[in-house]
Amino acid sequence: MKKTNFERYLVTILAMLIGILALFLYKRLKVQPKIDISQSLNKDNVMPVVILGSGPAGQAAGIYASRLGFKTLIVSGSKPGGQLTETSFVENWPGERKILGRELMKKLQDHNLGLDVSFLEDTVTKVNFSKWPFELETADGVKLNALSVIITTGSSPLTLKVPGESEYWGKGVTTCAICDAPFYKGKNVVVVGGGDSAAEQVLQLSPHVAHITMLVRKDSLRASQAMQDRVKEVKNLTIVYNSQLKQIIGNSNHVVSVDILNNKDNSIKNQPIDGVFLAIGHSPNTSLFKKQIDMDSAGYIEVKGRSQQTSIPGVFAAGDVEDHVYMQAGIASGAGIKAALDASAFLHKIGFTNEIAKKLENKYYEVSSSGLSNVVVIKSQRELDKITSSNKIPVIVDFWAHHCPSCIHMLPSFESVAKKFANKAVFVKVDIEEAQDIVKKLFILKVPSFIVFKDGQIVARFNDFMDKSQMIDFVNKFI
Ligand code: NDP
Repeated sequence: MKKTNFERYLVTILAMLIGILALFLYKRLKVQPKIDISQSLNKDNVMPVVILGSGPAGQAAGIYASRLGFKTLIVSGSKPGGQLTETSFVENWPGERKILGRELMKKLQDHNLGLDVSFLEDTVTKVNFSKWPFELETADGVKLNALSVIITTGSSPLTLKVPGESEYWGKGVTTCAICDAPFYKGKNVVVVGGGDSAAEQVLQLSPHVAHITMLVRKDSLRASQAMQDRVKEVKNLTIVYNSQLKQIIGNSNHVVSVDILNNKDNSIKNQPIDGVFLAIGHSPNTSLFKKQIDMDSAGYIEVKGRSQQTSIPGVFAAGDVEDHVYMQAGIASGAGIKAALDASAFLHKIGFTNEIAKKLENKYYEVSSSGLSNVVVIKSQRELDKITSSNKIPVIVDFWAHHCPSCIHMLPSFESVAKKFANKAVFVKVDIEEAQDIVKKLFILKVPSFIVFKDGQIVARFNDFMDKSQMIDFVNKFI
């Protein structure tokens, strides 16, 4: 029998209602762990509060969780101290008129250390929120049983995805001006973007480079007025509005020019250039939690109402990982404080009493000290030649610099990976400021950078930051 239009309409409405109901039930009934405080007593490596990430949100959460009386562990993540360590001066942190980003983060870390918060220089690579205590595993293989988790993993810089970008990554293309500006002494560079990060990069590059062209896709900057005022005073800067970078062109070693589209008349101009600094926004670091907690379509973790509670009771999120509106260090730290207060309320609600805390005392995870280093430090090409020619096993060289925060963050991971692969590879670190002969000979244009030698020959180069798990995968390829 043929259906009338009205019947078809009814069927469609019914199907939509069933779909909405199914989605609602799925969200409600989505694997929520059963929580019974006595379960924690049978576990080892227990922690009442585990904080993932050590930016402003994580550090503020640590201070509050500890002062609320909970044994607290901060797993520092792949960028200890977070993005503030890559900015120069911070002038909007209440109570500090002007402070270097990395100094501010050091103060926050010292505050935590003074409160006996433990730090693990590692990255969480696996989480299981369908069981309670929540199961976490780090790149180094540490397995933790967390009674509550605060996610403060922040966000990472976006890239443009234009031709030439990945090919010349680390050969003239970068997102870290504070790390790489010294490589561009007397050179011409472009900064892409018109927000606060782009403004910050202009200020960091200006003392080093000959000239900066700032490519802004609209006819105005998005940066705050205070940053715009500072940028407009930069003498060696030209701001080109209505312009978009379309292609990065280079020779076999580095970038030589870029193609720039004029949005108004659609013309494309080729501009000779030595370096491209990208500052086009950020995306949240949430891939680890996909399918376990609710996120919005852009991957930001959803929190409930005025709390920092995620869709899993006992798991909280704070900072740039859940906030795509304000994205300020002060707001992130405030959210971290709220998350610690929420975690405290949760722990009390599930029966975490002083008595339970006492019973768990010898089950808490203790961070072990790192022991002696087996990384070789070299300062000249002669030393490098000697090591690479005399070893049959791979030689992995880490090029770093004091001015590069991500290089400094990676050194503990490099040390730890060196211990893991002791006798299987030789690990060498080179401070680029002390070994200009190596820098020139090997065309180092970015820090951090890694070069792998086998039988005296270069077999691989990697010009970017790696967290510990990526470093382990990288080294494994050559063993
Ligand atoms: P924003 O999102 O604020 O700015 C991104 C900029 O990049 C915008 O100008 C945007 O253009 C442009 N852009 C985005 N995509 C493209 C593209 N595909 N091609 C060309 N241009 C593009 O990001 P930021 O990283 O600058 O800042 C993030 C947050 O961090 C903000 O809240 C900021 O205030 C804060 N921050 C504060 C600092 C400080 O106070 N010193 C320093 C750094 C960051 P359009 O405007 O057209 O969208």
